[in-house]
Amino acid sequence: MSGNPISRRRAMVAGLAGLAAIPFAAGLASANPGSARQDISPNAAKIYLDPGHGGSDSGAVGNGLQEKNLTLDIALRTRDLLTSAGHTVRMSRETDIFRELAWRASDANSWGAALFISIHINAGGGTGFESYRYTSVGQPTLDFHNRLHAGILSGMNSHTPVTNRGMKSANFAVLRLTNMPAVLTENLFIDRASDAALLANSSFLQATAQGHASRVESMLATM
Ligand SMILES: [Zn+2]
Repeated sequence: MSGNPISRRRAMVAGLAGLAAIPFAAGLASANPGSARQDISPNAAKIYLDPGHGGSDSGAVGNGLQEKNLTLDIALRTRDLLTSAGHTVRMSRETDIFRELAWRASDANSWGAALFISIHINAGGGTGFESYRYTSVGQPTLDFHNRLHAGILSGMNSHTPVTNRGMKSANFAVLRLTNMPAVLTENLFIDRASDAALLANSSFLQATAQGHASRVESMLATM
């Protein structure tokens, strides 16, 4: 049976989220991005890290750098910090491969992640750090966004002061399709020479990863 590709994709997303028996519209309604999984204790919590882009999709490029490599580097460093602290981490990719956006969200949903962090590098001529939540979220996502944004800024600033571009909201697929508190980070501008110089510095990437890992514990304690 061929069927409507959109319906098939929706069925797959709903099925992977454990909502196969629920019509898609109802599944979406119940998959409130702000609804925390109250039954998960901090010790058992699963953290999902999503390094942006990969494979044929390099993301932004500039100053000899490719976004896909930087996002993976920061995510692997963050994973190591979180696993060292006793958390369970799953990643949308651990190598230079391509993943669809919907696949990333479905994978996090079906795994039962407690928190989701998508890691990106900005481009377009600005400078500094900004982060995003979905356009309509609940208190757990607001809490997570506040904590993570502050933690990453603190981590970066411990190495070199960076511009705080603020906390924003956007209709990004990985934020819309995930059903746990989810935040997307934009870690400096690859096309700004001064930002790129930091992104080429492994100790700055480590400080950025420490920022990504630093507030997970306190967030889990509230869930
Ligand atoms: Zn990106």
